[in-house]
This record gives sequence, C-alpha cells and structure tokens, in this order.
Amino acid sequence: MGRNPSQRSYRNRSDRRTGKICRRRKNAPKPIITGCTATKPPFKKTRIITPPTSIPVVIVGAGPAGLATALALQQYGIYCTIIDNHPEHVVKPGESLPPNANAILNTLGIETLLESPNHNHYVGNTVVWGDGTVRSRYFMNEPYGNGRHLNRIAFETELRNTVQQHNIPLFLDYRLTNITEQEEQLFLNCTTPDGTVRTLKAGFVVDCSGRAAIVAKKMGVKRTTLDTLSAYYCTVPQPGNTLNGMTFIESVEDGWWYAAPIGDNKIIMHFMSDADLHTLKTPDLQYWFQQKIAETQHLNTLIHPDISMATAITIKTATTAILEQPCGPRWLAVGDALCSYDPLTSFGITNALAGGHAAAQAIEKLFNGDSSGISDYCQQQISVFDKSVAMLQNQYKMEQRWPSAPFWERRH
Ligand SMILES: Cc1cc2nc3c(=O)[nH]c(=O)nc-3n(C[C@H](O)[C@H](O)[C@H](O)COP(=O)(O)OP(=O)(O)OC[C@H]3O[C@@H](n4cnc5c(N)ncnc54)[C@H](O)[C@@H]3O)c2cc1C
Repeated sequence: MGRNPSQRSYRNRSDRRTGKICRRRKNAPKPIITGCTATKPPFKKTRIITPPTSIPVVIVGAGPAGLATALALQQYGIYCTIIDNHPEHVVKPGESLPPNANAILNTLGIETLLESPNHNHYVGNTVVWGDGTVRSRYFMNEPYGNGRHLNRIAFETELRNTVQQHNIPLFLDYRLTNITEQEEQLFLNCTTPDGTVRTLKAGFVVDCSGRAAIVAKKMGVKRTTLDTLSAYYCTVPQPGNTLNGMTFIESVEDGWWYAAPIGDNKIIMHFMSDADLHTLKTPDLQYWFQQKIAETQHLNTLIHPDISMATAITIKTATTAILEQPCGPRWLAVGDALCSYDPLTSFGITNALAGGHAAAQAIEKLFNGDSSGISDYCQQQISVFDKSVAMLQNQYKMEQRWPSAPFWERRH
C-alpha cells in the first residue's frame, strides 16, 4: 500500500470550504456522514439521508474512477462525497482486468477484492490478428501473475461496499444536472430520489461520470473523438469452459471480435466495428450477430454456433476520446470522463483506478496551496493517452489482410 498519512480533518467551516486540512484531534468525531446506498443500507430503520450542502470535494460518478478517487482522498484525510445518477448498479461491459492492474489495486489497499470467488483467473490472450495464425500468450511469466475476468457487477458492488466500510458517503440516484460557480465555490444542482432538485456546494469537483463527462460538459469543455467504434455484445451459456481462462480476439473484415469467460459457464462476446458501417433495426440484430459469428474463422469453432440462448444484443459506443481540457481551477476529470480507451487495450478499468489515485494526490497538493500537482496530473494523463493511441495505431496497422475495407482503411 502507498502512503497512508494520518487522519486529517478540517479545523473550521472556512477551512472546510477552502479545502485547507489539519490533523484531526484525538477522539474528535470523524469528519464524515453516513451515506445511504442501494447496496447496503447502514441504518436498520428507514431514514432519509441527504448530503451536507457544503462539501470540500464532490465526486460525480461511482464507477471505478469515482470509487478509487474517494478511497485515495481518504488516504490523504480529505473529506469527499460521491453521487451517482443510478439507483443501483448498471450492467457495464469491461471484464478483462490484466495483471498490471494488481499494482494499483495494492496501492489503493483493495487487492483482496480480486480474491472473491466472483472473479476468475485470466491467464492470457489468444489472438488471431494479421495473418490468420492463432497465437496464445500466457501471463505466467508476468511479474504480477494472472489477471482476472471480472464479474463486473460484483466487482463494483465490492468496491462500493469497501467505500462504505470506509464511511465515505455515497448517494445513489443523485443526477448532476447543472453546475454554476460563485465566489470560489461550485454549486451542483442534482435531481434526487424523490424528484426534487438539491444544490450541493463544493470546494472542488471530480468528474468521474464516464463517457458522459457531465462536469466537463457543463463547464463548456468538449471531447475530441478519434473514431466511431461501437460494441455489439451479448452473453451466452457456454458449458465446458472452452476459452480456458483466456481472452480471445479475432480480427475480421469489418472489425474484430472479443470473447471472454465471465463465470457461471457463460461467455461474453463483443463484435467491435464502426457504427456507421451497420444500419440495423433491432429485430434483425440477433440474426445479424449470428451471421457475423458464422463468418469468423476461429471464434465459431470455439463457441456453440446456436446463440438462441444468448441475451439480447446490446450496442454501446466504444470510441477513443479525450477531453479538450482535462481540468479547471476547481474541477478535474478522471477515468473515462477524461480519456476513453479502445477496448482492444483492456486499459479502461486500470486507467480509472490509477487516475483516481493520481487525482487524489494532485488535489491534496492543491489543498496545501500548490497547484502544480493538478497540471502535472493533466500532463501525465494526456501523455499516457497519446502513447496508448500510438500503440493502438501500430496494432491496427499490423492487420493488412483487408486494406480497402473501410474499417481498416480508416485505421491505417
Ligand atoms: C465494449 C467495451 C468493452 C470494454 N472492455 C474492457 C475491458 O475488458 N477491460 C477494461 O479494463 N476496460 C474495458 N472497458 C472500459 C471500462 O469499462 C471503462 O473504462 C470503465 O468503466 C471506466 O470507469 P469510470 O469509472 O471512468 O466510468 P464508468 O464506469 O462509466 O462510471 C461512470 C459513473 O458515472 C455515473 N454518472 C454519469 N452521469 C452522471 C450524472 N449526470 N450524475 C451522477 N452520476 C453520473 C454513471 O452512472 C456511472 O456509474 C470496456 C468498455 C467498453 C465500451
């Protein structure tokens, strides 16, 4: 685990407002309120709990980025509150957590989450890319050992429970709708579970709202999107563990496939392609998806060709994108809100967790009067994104079998 400064809190209302922190007096009450969450209510009796109206740091979004930021801020003794617009977990794609994620999980003190039986060992990748040869690479020689194929809902539930155990307030069904700035404070309008609008006053706001990047958007900052990649995916029963703990990737003429085991004898299959290449009506999706699987050379030999037992096909944007400006004087963005990575990188969750930790370090510096941490954070995030995009381009260029197919032509 990384640095674990002693508990600190705010001396008075003014310090709390500015984010100025001091060591907490022994036996002083904890500078927290207990939040209500959908997963594990802390009170036996039903009580309506609302966040205080004046909060040093408000985190918008309770995905991996928001939860990691909150845990790291608490390591620095900085009081924060998380809000999320959903009343409960939403199903999200993204289940391959590569071995290098272990480092940031250790730093955040949450490495034991991966020991949960909900997640399976992710032992390597089988890739068909470039010349049609099937290549497998195992993680056994990696310094961190295996990665995990996550049960994503369980992972985020466990992460939220950890945040709750640390007494960090988490308010679900709170949707940020607007932000205004007055006298060095941000005023966040949120719709609440009872439909009323509540205004939270924050010294600093962290945008962890995923691709919505709602804080940045409300601050007038745009996102630059580099492609039109979309994911078409479903889960399907697959008795017999045909993928043997591997993530499987196969390129095809109009995109690439990704399949991974997700426990309970099921696999998730994604077809990744550009949205504009397929104009489909919902009733035709299942049939189209099955036809697409049949066109693959290898995937269709690994899975049962009849996908009539599959869940409905979901379509999600999977574009690579970055904010034109990652922060402002009283806000910054973390995770997908700042940079969304092509799922081919399997970097989204790791980036969200690591970004949360780095953002907390920058905020601590800022609260101690040094704004250089924020600019360093922004530069570092942009540099990681640029490097990843360059590596991604190389990876796409390695596939030259369909040079005139629009999907590949756009990426060469
Ligand atoms: C098809 C696909 C496959 C992927 N596969 C992988 C993979 O194998 N491995 C990997 O590491 N990554 C993968 N990813 C990426 C990964 O899922 C994301 O990078 C990760 O979820 C980012 O976490 P986050 O916390 O930044 O955002 P999110 O997980 O999107 O969380 C954002 C939160 O903000 C909340 N929110 C949004 N708007 C508001 C609002 N107005 N008010 C309050 N709350 C709000 C949302 O409800 C949500 O809970 C994949 C992505 C896609 C699209």
